[in-house]
Amino acid sequence: MTARGQKREIESSTVKVKWYGVNKMEQYLRVAGIKEDSVVDGPGLRLVVFVQGCPHVCIGCHNPQTHDFNGGKDMKIKDIVTLTQNNPLLTGVTLSGGEPFCQSEQCAELAHQLKLLGYEIWCYTGFAFEHLSEIAKFNRSVKGLLLTIDVLVDGPYKQEMRDETLLFRGSKNQRLIVLENGKYKCEWTG
Ligand code: SF4
Repeated sequence: MTARGQKREIESSTVKVKWYGVNKMEQYLRVAGIKEDSVVDGPGLRLVVFVQGCPHVCIGCHNPQTHDFNGGKDMKIKDIVTLTQNNPLLTGVTLSGGEPFCQSEQCAELAHQLKLLGYEIWCYTGFAFEHLSEIAKFNRSVKGLLLTIDVLVDGPYKQEMRDETLLFRGSKNQRLIVLENGKYKCEWTG
């Protein structure tokens, strides 16, 4: 697929969100739900944002309710930030799905605000890191989201490569990639 084709793939599956004024914190993110205290979506105690809408539709996906781009509910970015701050025990926030990169502008703003507050950001995506890096060359919000992420868990879930012994991922093709300024640094080992 060409880079232009990849761009269309993401844009065509982007959820329509409400926009209110110029304050980015007032933007709405379409979410399937929030888990306020997870220990299985990255290290430490984390708040997990399950975004709504996923184009990958992996066979065996554990969150099929997140696939429909018309499902879920709108939540203001500022309310998710407040929810995070309400729990002083949280050390990080994980964006999961659904597909966070289908709402990259809103996820980038949310992750940016949380990062300013000192939270470590993990993000799950069904896209390969190399694919997103190519798109980031011409898509500002994809680039912005990559810039805020500390660890990217990439690739679709592949049932035939399932391995229950893996930490924080379901199948062997998925990688835990430490990013530095949006670039590949190394694989996360804990
Ligand atoms: S990318 Fe994740 S949420 Fe989307 S179908 Fe695959 S496993 Fe499910």
